[in-house]
Amino acid sequence: MNIFKSAWNNHCPRCREGKIFTEPLVISDPLNMPENCSVCGQRTNPEPGFYYGSMFLSYILSGFFLLGTALLLVFYFGWTANQAMVFVLFLAAVIYLKILRVSRSIWIHVVVKYDPEATQVK
Ligand SMILES: [Zn+2]
Repeated sequence: MNIFKSAWNNHCPRCREGKIFTEPLVISDPLNMPENCSVCGQRTNPEPGFYYGSMFLSYILSGFFLLGTALLLVFYFGWTANQAMVFVLFLAAVIYLKILRVSRSIWIHVVVKYDPEATQVK
Protein backbone atom coordinates (compact mmCIF):
# COMPACT_ATOMS: atom_id res chain seq x y z
CA MET A 1 0.00 0.00 0.00
CA ASN A 2 1.46 3.38 -0.91
CA ILE A 3 1.75 6.23 1.57
CA PHE A 4 -1.12 8.27 0.08
CA LYS A 5 -3.60 5.43 0.27
CA SER A 6 -2.42 4.56 3.76
CA ALA A 7 -2.77 8.16 4.98
CA TRP A 8 -6.16 8.63 3.31
CA ASN A 9 -7.55 5.45 4.90
CA ASN A 10 -6.12 6.21 8.37
CA HIS A 11 -3.80 3.23 8.45
CA CYS A 12 -0.81 2.91 10.75
CA PRO A 13 2.20 4.64 9.12
CA ARG A 14 4.66 1.95 10.24
CA CYS A 15 2.99 -1.29 9.10
CA ARG A 16 0.25 0.29 6.93
CA GLU A 17 -2.14 -2.45 8.03
CA GLY A 18 -3.45 -1.52 11.45
CA LYS A 19 -5.82 1.40 12.01
CA ILE A 20 -4.85 4.51 13.98
CA PHE A 21 -8.43 5.51 14.88
CA THR A 22 -11.06 3.59 16.80
CA GLU A 23 -13.64 2.24 14.34
CA PRO A 24 -16.51 2.52 13.80
CA LEU A 25 -16.46 6.27 14.29
CA VAL A 26 -18.36 7.63 17.29
CA ILE A 27 -19.67 11.12 16.51
CA SER A 28 -19.20 12.38 20.07
CA ASP A 29 -15.53 11.30 20.12
CA PRO A 30 -14.19 11.39 16.55
CA LEU A 31 -10.53 11.60 17.55
CA ASN A 32 -10.48 8.52 19.77
CA MET A 33 -7.32 6.55 18.97
CA PRO A 34 -6.17 3.26 20.44
CA GLU A 35 -2.96 3.52 22.46
CA ASN A 36 -0.99 1.35 20.01
CA CYS A 37 -1.38 -0.06 16.52
CA SER A 38 -2.99 -3.50 16.83
CA VAL A 39 -0.66 -4.99 14.20
CA CYS A 40 2.82 -3.60 14.91
CA GLY A 41 2.44 -1.82 18.26
CA GLN A 42 3.39 1.62 16.93
CA ARG A 43 2.24 4.29 19.42
CA THR A 44 -0.50 6.40 17.88
CA ASN A 45 0.35 9.39 20.07
CA PRO A 46 4.18 9.48 20.11
CA GLU A 47 4.42 12.47 22.46
CA PRO A 48 2.15 14.94 24.27
CA GLY A 49 0.85 17.59 21.89
CA PHE A 50 1.96 15.59 18.86
CA TYR A 51 -1.14 16.46 16.85
CA TYR A 52 -0.99 20.19 17.51
CA GLY A 53 0.45 20.76 14.04
CA SER A 54 -2.28 18.75 12.35
CA MET A 55 -4.66 21.58 13.24
CA PHE A 56 -2.80 23.83 10.81
CA LEU A 57 -2.84 21.06 8.25
CA SER A 58 -6.61 20.67 8.51
CA TYR A 59 -6.97 24.45 8.23
CA ILE A 60 -4.88 24.49 5.05
CA LEU A 61 -6.61 21.46 3.54
CA SER A 62 -10.16 22.64 4.18
CA GLY A 63 -9.33 26.27 3.38
CA PHE A 64 -7.89 25.61 -0.05
CA PHE A 65 -10.44 22.94 -0.90
CA LEU A 66 -13.43 25.11 0.02
CA LEU A 67 -11.97 28.26 -1.52
CA GLY A 68 -11.25 26.37 -4.74
CA THR A 69 -14.80 25.01 -4.78
CA ALA A 70 -16.32 28.46 -4.21
CA LEU A 71 -14.18 30.08 -6.90
CA LEU A 72 -15.07 27.32 -9.35
CA LEU A 73 -18.79 27.69 -8.65
CA VAL A 74 -18.76 31.47 -9.01
CA PHE A 75 -16.39 31.97 -11.94
CA TYR A 76 -16.90 28.77 -13.94
CA PHE A 77 -20.51 27.82 -13.24
CA GLY A 78 -21.78 31.38 -12.78
CA TRP A 79 -23.33 30.94 -9.32
CA THR A 80 -23.88 34.02 -7.17
CA ALA A 81 -21.63 34.49 -4.14
CA ASN A 82 -24.51 33.70 -1.75
CA GLN A 83 -25.39 30.45 -3.53
CA ALA A 84 -21.74 29.42 -3.48
CA MET A 85 -21.45 30.32 0.22
CA VAL A 86 -24.44 28.18 1.18
CA PHE A 87 -23.07 25.26 -0.80
CA VAL A 88 -19.59 25.65 0.67
CA LEU A 89 -20.96 25.71 4.24
CA PHE A 90 -22.90 22.55 3.51
CA LEU A 91 -19.82 20.94 1.96
CA ALA A 92 -17.71 21.95 4.98
CA ALA A 93 -20.13 20.18 7.31
CA VAL A 94 -20.04 17.04 5.18
CA ILE A 95 -16.24 16.80 4.91
CA TYR A 96 -15.52 17.98 8.46
CA LEU A 97 -14.90 14.59 10.07
CA LYS A 98 -12.90 13.28 7.12
CA ILE A 99 -10.62 16.33 7.13
CA LEU A 100 -10.26 16.09 10.91
CA ARG A 101 -9.06 12.51 10.82
CA VAL A 102 -7.07 12.63 7.61
CA SER A 103 -5.02 15.62 8.79
CA ARG A 104 -3.96 13.65 11.87
CA SER A 105 -3.25 10.67 9.68
CA ILE A 106 -1.08 12.70 7.28
CA TRP A 107 0.70 14.26 10.25
CA ILE A 108 1.77 10.90 11.69
CA HIS A 109 2.65 9.60 8.21
CA VAL A 110 5.11 12.46 7.79
CA VAL A 111 6.89 11.60 11.04
CA VAL A 112 6.81 7.79 11.31
CA LYS A 113 8.73 5.79 8.69
CA TYR A 114 7.27 2.82 6.86
CA ASP A 115 8.73 -0.50 8.04
CA PRO A 116 7.57 -3.43 5.87
CA GLU A 117 8.92 -5.96 8.38
CA ALA A 118 6.92 -4.48 11.25
CA THR A 119 3.99 -6.78 10.46
CA GLN A 120 6.05 -9.93 10.91
CA VAL A 121 7.80 -8.91 14.14
CA LYS A 122 4.72 -8.41 16.34
ZN1 LIG B 1 1.12 -0.65 12.71
